[in-house]
Amino acid sequence: MVDYSGFETEKEILSYWNEKKIFNKLRKRNKGKKQFSFIDGPITANNPMGVHHAWGRTLKDLYQRYRAMQGFDERYQNGFDCQGLWLEVETEKDLGFNSKKDIENFGLDKFSKACRQRVEKFSKVQTEQSIHLGQWMDWGNDYYTMDDNNIQSIWFFLKKCYNKGWLYKGRRILPWCIRCGTSSSKHEMSDEGYAELVHPSIYVKAKIKGKDNEYLLIWTTTEWTLSSNIAAAVNPDINYVKAKKGNDILYLSEATIGKLGKDYEIIKNLKGADLVGIEYESFYPHFEIQKGISHRVVPSSDVGASDGTGIVHIAPSCGDMDYELGKKLKLKILESALDDFGNYNKGFGWLTGKNVKDAKKEIVNELDKRKLLYRIENYKHRYPVCWRCKEELVFRLDSSWFIACDEIRPIMKKESGKVKWHPEHVGKLMQDWLDNMDDWNISRRRYWGLPLMIYECGKCNNLEVIGSLKELKEKAINKKDVDNLPELHRPWIDKIKIKCKCGEEIERIKDVGDCWLDAGIVPFSTLHYFKDKKYWKKWFPAELEIEMRAQVRLWFYAQLFMSVVLEGVAPYKRILAYEEVRDEKGEAMHKSKGNAIWFNEAVEKMGADVMRWQYCSQNPQFNLNFGYGPAQEIKRNLLVILNLGEYIKQNCIKISKSYSKDPASLWILSKKENLKNNVTNYLDNLEYHKALEEIKNFLIFDLSKTYVQFIRSELDDGKVQKVLHDSYYDATILLAPFLPFISEKINLDIYKKESIHLQQWPKINKKAINKKLEISMKYAGAFIQGIMSARDKEKISVRWPLNKATIYLHDEHADTRNFIKPLIGLITKQTNIRKLNFEYVHKGLDEELQGAPFQYGHIVLDLKITKELEQEGYSRELMRKIQDLRKTAGLKKIDDIDLVIASDYDLSDWKKEIAIRTGAKTLKIIKEMPKNIFKHTLEAEIKGKKFIIFMNPL
Ligand SMILES: [Zn+2]
Ligand SMILES: [Zn+2]
Repeated sequence: MVDYSGFETEKEILSYWNEKKIFNKLRKRNKGKKQFSFIDGPITANNPMGVHHAWGRTLKDLYQRYRAMQGFDERYQNGFDCQGLWLEVETEKDLGFNSKKDIENFGLDKFSKACRQRVEKFSKVQTEQSIHLGQWMDWGNDYYTMDDNNIQSIWFFLKKCYNKGWLYKGRRILPWCIRCGTSSSKHEMSDEGYAELVHPSIYVKAKIKGKDNEYLLIWTTTEWTLSSNIAAAVNPDINYVKAKKGNDILYLSEATIGKLGKDYEIIKNLKGADLVGIEYESFYPHFEIQKGISHRVVPSSDVGASDGTGIVHIAPSCGDMDYELGKKLKLKILESALDDFGNYNKGFGWLTGKNVKDAKKEIVNELDKRKLLYRIENYKHRYPVCWRCKEELVFRLDSSWFIACDEIRPIMKKESGKVKWHPEHVGKLMQDWLDNMDDWNISRRRYWGLPLMIYECGKCNNLEVIGSLKELKEKAINKKDVDNLPELHRPWIDKIKIKCKCGEEIERIKDVGDCWLDAGIVPFSTLHYFKDKKYWKKWFPAELEIEMRAQVRLWFYAQLFMSVVLEGVAPYKRILAYEEVRDEKGEAMHKSKGNAIWFNEAVEKMGADVMRWQYCSQNPQFNLNFGYGPAQEIKRNLLVILNLGEYIKQNCIKISKSYSKDPASLWILSKKENLKNNVTNYLDNLEYHKALEEIKNFLIFDLSKTYVQFIRSELDDGKVQKVLHDSYYDATILLAPFLPFISEKINLDIYKKESIHLQQWPKINKKAINKKLEISMKYAGAFIQGIMSARDKEKISVRWPLNKATIYLHDEHADTRNFIKPLIGLITKQTNIRKLNFEYVHKGLDEELQGAPFQYGHIVLDLKITKELEQEGYSRELMRKIQDLRKTAGLKKIDDIDLVIASDYDLSDWKKEIAIRTGAKTLKIIKEMPKNIFKHTLEAEIKGKKFIIFMNPL
């Protein structure tokens, strides 16, 4: 058995690589050759890496290693994402903070430093982890999105947008996190940005003006927005009713009449259009903000008959659709009800100063007290939450900075259409997203992020946008302050004031940028777009990028956007996108569920190569069910592969220079060339999982199970050894980019080259491919299996030769006989049958008579045993016993022995063969017991006859 202990073995190999500088040698070898440009999407340096990160990192490593073996020059630059809300939230947690106030009390300078320290800490941790995963990168030469170069590159981009007239400040309904005190953008509200939540939904009565006890019945799940109500919308085309319930007269849609329960009376049927224009009283007539508004019923075709009550509450400052309707109908649009932190603003009566979270219950109780609450029920829906802190979002009207996208949308669509997306549907997702994307909301009211260099003059309304540090210095009032900036972050950068053209001293807006700007600029900032255009041209665009599918709306989008603005083209030629990592039952991994697997635990328990095998065998189009169960099976496969290596090490000891030309060898050599061809094609087509499957099948089935079986008795032949030896090595080279550790171990143990990763990717020898032989071998394999199962049925071991087998071929497979003609010798040898006969039989009839014959027919064995056949049978059984005895004695293949067999049975015809096959220098077959003493003896009874084996190692 081989010695392979995953983690420990991998650590040894890592230090071997380190000591021999294998990666450097590889880079040096490829330097200056044709380049393969891969751009690494930055990993957020915010926590230790998870097993989900390791999927992408394994695929990235796979492709970089593959291209390197093909001789391509590569950059190997790893990236860390350093800024933005996620990092701030985790730093806040570390510091025990829970609000922006805590941060401001602590001091922005200290907070920025804490964020930077967090990046430094976790980029180190992630580097260690990635190294253990086997990822080869130019560690130490990583890019960090927080560095000055990256920041200035984005300044340049924003200035360009400004010069084009695309950068603007807009008032919008923004999805807003009141804990983080900032807006989110549409691309951030993807899968992680929603949760299944239950909210109380309320039915409230809006009193119709001038009528006693007549009300519109309105339904809402956001009671806190009623104080910003302006109108009630109905669909003019659907049916409504006027109904009497108790003392009240209520209006609602016909389809929702059930909400009134029993004991109501329909007074009148109407169309929505009949309700339009009705005036009703404010829910909060005493709030200052509500004064002077005429609340009316308005038409909207978006209202559904069975939504709530068919009458929808409209608060244009609190919802996207409401805002659009408000603009369309020229309704009054109020100021936002809430400030950045969810506290009610001035003008909201008793609500002013209260936090929306605390006020919700009070609002309902107070409405109830005033008898405006009709009914309350729980309502389950998918509701947006903050993508980082998971707080429920509110929607509020506020201003933010945007980049207009209408002009570049068509270019982005066209450019994205040229990209090869894999899987293909991902390209369609990008097109859909580009059709639906709004202007890019780039500003965030936070601290640790890209400072947006926008200066607004309050006096003359002039806007200055700074595009570089140089420009900042030119326009700064105190130039020394610019020189003395410790870094381009808040709070230091906030202190720089510039002079407006009107003469006024103006300050930077306080906002920082969307973190996707940070990552989106990478194809420019890291490729020296500003410093070295020649270099940039050499490496741009990326040949390949590999990230999760969710990055379509995030990193892939941000890069495309920025690249189209700067250069009018897509920054990548091919994209490989993969799905999510789940637990082995297919459920999402969660800390709280207890099913999450940590990277360190996984790598220590199963080893990096077993992890990599899981990642590389998964079709990226589907989620990967990762876990210890699948790892067990992979480990079994790895052991088969390693044991084959051990077998080769033991047996291939006098390898010839040329290959054996026997059919089995020609067959495996043909399979080997096909393997190289298929693996290369699959990898080129990004179907890496199919490539790995091919290698696995070749090593485990073709080579280990089939070929080794075929040549077992031929292995003394150096030419056969060469076939086995080379086939295994070529397959191991193909395996190297997938499983860098195990392939290296095999290389060092058996082939003793300095490193498998310095080998060239194998070239295909088309001449060795013999399709006809491969088909013949498929048939031969089936025939052998058929004969062996016939033997099983008769309970005659393959060691006992039989004179003849007759194969009754189904007439439809008659031509298989021609195919196997050159392989008859192989079949008879493998099955230990002297002669094969062929007859033909009608398939239907055969199946009826024979029950379950083999694939192409059935086989009848000739069971007559002659003296000669009998002697061979005993001899073969004996040889196996002797081999077992050698093994228990701990002998190697090359060790010779002295052998004595005591028995009455006549073995004379086989004496020579037994001696050769068992490595016996001397062999005596005697009838009595030997006189001298032997170290090893074994008594064997074979089919009623007694044999005693005496053995002495020499
Ligand atoms: Zn938040
Ligand atoms: Zn001015």
